Amino acid sequence: LLTPHNANIRAQFPVLKQILDGYPLCYLDTAATSQKPQIVLDAMAQYYTNDNANVHRAAHQLSARATLSYEKVRDQLQHFLKAKHREEIIFTHGTTESINLVAFGLTAQLTAGDVILIDSAAHHANIVPWQELAKRTGAVIKPIPLDKHCRLDINAYQALLALKPKIVALCHISNALGTVNPVAQLVQLAKAQGAITLVDGAQAAAHLTLDMTDIDCDFYVFSGHKMYGPTGVGVLYGRFDVLDSLAPLLTGGEMIKRVSFEATEFGSLPNRLEAGTPPIAEVIGLGAAITFLQTELTGQVQAYEAELLNYLQCQLRALGEVHLYGAFDDNIGVVAFNLADEHHQDVGILLDQQGIAVRCGHHCAMPLMHSLNLKGCCRASIGIYTNKDDIDHFITALASVKDLLL
Ligand code: PMP
Repeated sequence: LLTPHNANIRAQFPVLKQILDGYPLCYLDTAATSQKPQIVLDAMAQYYTNDNANVHRAAHQLSARATLSYEKVRDQLQHFLKAKHREEIIFTHGTTESINLVAFGLTAQLTAGDVILIDSAAHHANIVPWQELAKRTGAVIKPIPLDKHCRLDINAYQALLALKPKIVALCHISNALGTVNPVAQLVQLAKAQGAITLVDGAQAAAHLTLDMTDIDCDFYVFSGHKMYGPTGVGVLYGRFDVLDSLAPLLTGGEMIKRVSFEATEFGSLPNRLEAGTPPIAEVIGLGAAITFLQTELTGQVQAYEAELLNYLQCQLRALGEVHLYGAFDDNIGVVAFNLADEHHQDVGILLDQQGIAVRCGHHCAMPLMHSLNLKGCCRASIGIYTNKDDIDHFITALASVKDLLL
């Protein structure tokens, strides 16, 4: 059980070697942002040190090298996602921007009364852009209820699909609870009713092998920084014809074919949806993160992560006076809990004093917290580098917090 076979993986993350107030850093906040392996740090430093230039435009060698490195990452992502075409990969600044790009881009395709279904476990990033779209068009938002285990209620979902929604926005893995949606099945049901589907994969990209031919959604979005890559870069995958039908959110340089004061002709995908200078170093860093994941995220490591999460849940239960939230048996990456009736923030601060980083609050999922009748909770989340010592350290610290507060 829990053989620390990720020791060589962990050694690739320099940040984890630090000591905080005499305690080794115990980083259990990967769901907020992951740490970065040396290969990502090196790739970005290499670009700034040797190749720094703008992409696509200039005739000189540095720009050619930068463009090559940047466009290579699009090919990598096509392969990573098993997308049919490289033009189906759009670089954004993160999940939030990717969803905004889709929600804005679909404005002309909606009319008053159209229905938009949203997963009740969704992150605010997958709620607010749809609300804004509804305001612009008169469309109606309907949340998809969860069952008592906080899983999407499939019967309620099917009843809502009978309304023939125009858009169905789902999350792949809940960032607040770690529950996993059977997205391929949910997308298939939505498509049978003619809906456009978007899946928020922000929490999935670091843990699962992604296959767009299997999930078969119209849009899939995620952020580089949650999958061992840098902040400031995200991905929008879109099925070519649906992606091509989006109006651009940003207009300006790079996305045009011809400009005059009378009329502007937009360019083609992917440039049409990537106006302005893109986050070049970050895209290159993301490319290195994908190389890292493709090398290290083996089936064995995925099984190890599952075992570690299960160990964490069992240890929390064994501690007593701990409330756990959500389904437990197939969660990925995240455990949500409260210590008796103590305020989550107090618990978080006391844990921090022992070198432990957890997240406390509503986790950008206020509707979900509301349905659980909670103001917030603590969230411990794991990554590819987390080991059993981290969990034991965390549980020992939580036991001492319990002794102090209860
Ligand atoms: N969706 C989910 C499920 C998330 O976990 C997050 C980040 N917490 C986001 C969307 C937003 O991602 P970003 O802040 O990188 O745009």
